[in-house]
Amino acid sequence: MKYMLYYYSYANLMSISFRAAETPATTESGTVEAPSQMIPRTLFAEEHEVFRDSVRRFVEDKVAPFHDQWERDGVVSREVWLQAGAQGYLCCSTPEEYGGTGAGFLYSAIFTEELARVGASGPAFHLHSEIVAPYLVHYGTEEQKRTWLPRMVSGETIGAIAMTEPAAGSDLQGIKTTAVRDGDDFVINGQKVFISNGQLADLVVVVCKTDAAAGARGVSLILVERERAGFERGRNLEKIGFKAQDTSELFFDDVRVPATNLLGQEGRGFVQLMQQLPQERLLVALRSVSIIEAGLDWTIAYTNDRQAFGRPIAGFQNTRFKLAEVKSQAAMLRVFIDRCIELHLEGQLDAVDAAMAKLLSTDMMCDLLDDCLQLFGGYGYMWEYPIARAWADARMARIAGGTSEIMKEIIGRSLSGNRPRTEV
Ligand SMILES: Cc1cc2nc3c(=O)[nH]c(=O)nc-3n(C[C@H](O)[C@H](O)[C@H](O)COP(=O)(O)OP(=O)(O)OC[C@H]3O[C@@H](n4cnc5c(N)ncnc54)[C@H](O)[C@@H]3O)c2cc1C
Repeated sequence: MKYMLYYYSYANLMSISFRAAETPATTESGTVEAPSQMIPRTLFAEEHEVFRDSVRRFVEDKVAPFHDQWERDGVVSREVWLQAGAQGYLCCSTPEEYGGTGAGFLYSAIFTEELARVGASGPAFHLHSEIVAPYLVHYGTEEQKRTWLPRMVSGETIGAIAMTEPAAGSDLQGIKTTAVRDGDDFVINGQKVFISNGQLADLVVVVCKTDAAAGARGVSLILVERERAGFERGRNLEKIGFKAQDTSELFFDDVRVPATNLLGQEGRGFVQLMQQLPQERLLVALRSVSIIEAGLDWTIAYTNDRQAFGRPIAGFQNTRFKLAEVKSQAAMLRVFIDRCIELHLEGQLDAVDAAMAKLLSTDMMCDLLDDCLQLFGGYGYMWEYPIARAWADARMARIAGGTSEIMKEIIGRSLSGNRPRTEV
């Protein structure tokens, strides 16, 4: 067989994913073993699987074929947002009265899993749908919800959340962006960095200090629309992964917004962030375990095809052992993350559970994808191969949404009886 670059490109990734699931492992002695099934998942009903089929087709037709180009552009097309919106795939938890389907978090979870399955890290749909939109759903006024949510559901308005600043990431209380009340307006000054959807975003939830002397109680969330005078976005930042996703600096120079753009109560921003961050971390965890499974599939397919010393490299004991380790850890992680989703659906997932889910899943993703990549040899280091991209993408997850060290702080402090709570 001739090993060409692009052999495992996005264009044929879907068929490879299916093939991997069907490919039996060949043992050193030449016998063939059927791959063991993952412990059956109990989260999803038949209607969810119908939805999954339709999402899978969407990802196959509208995402995978364009992902290479989006990587070159450093941003996905607006068109794919509108297409996803038209299909009802965005903001699945948003209630019907605000234009959503009200279908619930599990549907967004399925969309996240299906994108991860093909290694499509470009479209930040989950950020928009289940991180930004919920701030409006939970804390927005009736007018804010009616103005923005229907457009977010349709994909006409793309959302972002801007917490991090050049001098304050984990230590969110250290932010310097201010919003000063002036009559019926707030006037915002400051700078944000590393903001996902930063180039595309039409509506940004900006974390501001409305009372610089009040610590966490002086933090508020304010909506800033794309066209506000004085709101500029910097260049699209060059990253080592997530190359199809836009990430930017944002600048606020005397940006005047009506006081009605305040999201929830003044001074409650920190509490609102703490309430929403567990869902964000759960989504990172969900994406991570899905990518581990995808990486395993790609690796099984590749190691069964690739020959060395007169046999498929899947025939070497080392390959089988590595695949066995990845498989076992992925199965264990999947059960844990599914349980976290169940808890979340019951309103019982707390900050510590979410921190454990993020910490474990992202560390395991980095380690296990590294093991998988190794089995591809030199091809694993080539960008054309999804395993290379997934490996590079993975590194981000231990940083964004709260670093692994902060996750350990949250978990560790809960063990020593101290309430975690000044870092995100
Ligand atoms: C690709 C990407 C996308 C992102 N998207 C967004 C976004 O959409 N919106 C947004 O607001 N932010 C976003 N971020 C920012 C991200 O959330 C921050 O980078 C992250 O919170 C860490 O902050 P920092 O970079 O300032 O690092 P720092 O806080 O400076 O941390 C540096 C190091 O110090 C460690 N550290 C800090 N405090 C402690 C402590 N108390 N104990 C132990 N160790 C500690 C950290 O763990 C880390 O290892 C994104 C980042 C990336 C890379």
